Amino acid sequence: MSYDIAIIGSGVIGLFIAYELAHYRVRVLVIDREVEPGFGVSKGHAGVIHVVQPPFNSLRSKLAVEGNRMYDDIAERLHVRIRRLSALLVARNLGHLIALPAVWLILNRVYGKHGFRVRIIGPRELHRREPNVNGLGAVEVEGYGVINSFELVSQLYNFCKLNGVDFALGTEVRGAKVLDDEVVILTNRGGEYRAKYVVNAAGLYSADVARLFGDEYRLEFGKGGLCLFSGGANRQGT
Ligand SMILES: Cc1cc2nc3c(=O)[nH]c(=O)nc-3n(C[C@H](O)[C@H](O)[C@H](O)COP(=O)(O)OP(=O)(O)OC[C@H]3O[C@@H](n4cnc5c(N)ncnc54)[C@H](O)[C@@H]3O)c2cc1C
Repeated sequence: MSYDIAIIGSGVIGLFIAYELAHYRVRVLVIDREVEPGFGVSKGHAGVIHVVQPPFNSLRSKLAVEGNRMYDDIAERLHVRIRRLSALLVARNLGHLIALPAVWLILNRVYGKHGFRVRIIGPRELHRREPNVNGLGAVEVEGYGVINSFELVSQLYNFCKLNGVDFALGTEVRGAKVLDDEVVILTNRGGEYRAKYVVNAAGLYSADVARLFGDEYRLEFGKGGLCLFSGGANRQGT
């Protein structure tokens, strides 16, 4: 089977790429070893549309701002629920409180020019707005959002399916032959797919996939903490 573009990975990144390509006259295939789209890291997504993404001079930071602006339109077109809200960077001790004006200054300089309002709020307003948060004050950054990430993944998938994108789910890419004018993709199912271009959207496994195509790079992994408050119950995970 021959395609113009094969995308390896049907996480939110692979699906968004397929969604964009579905607007053009190109034959697109998405391959994923999971049996459902978005069953990699994307299934754990908290759905936060970020503004602040340090380091501020990074591509990640630039794309966070550009991507943030695109979400309202995308959510409307795909009928996905989205809610806009602001983020509070809370000063929990005296050290944090002393640093608050400097944090405001930096964030306002970086994000103010992009139209995201940044301001300092005092303990009274903080308590009024978030009675369960213990803090001496906060920097508020407007322009954040929360999107229903399950709806997003399933609607991206539905749009792609309806607009001619093929999916090979439950199919792991195990090897590749790079020829002069196309690439042959070898899978665990014994079959092979041919494509003029291949997009590596394999997330945490993208370096392994790249190696199959003769490209070598290393990913640095990080680990963070996520704390969800819901109806007074507090669930924690990493
Ligand atoms: C708990 C948690 C909360 C998060 N919250 C947020 C948030 O609020 N806001 C935010 O912006 N980000 C958040 N993130 C990060 C976000 O979820 C990820 O950045 C995003 O989902 C990555 O998408 P992806 O498409 O790159 O990767 P994935 O979703 O992992 O997709 C990669 C796909 O590639 C497939 N694949 C890999 N190797 C192969 C192979 N050899 N053959 C075939 N298929 C293969 C995998 O099966 C997988 O489906 C969170 C992450 C976690 C873990």
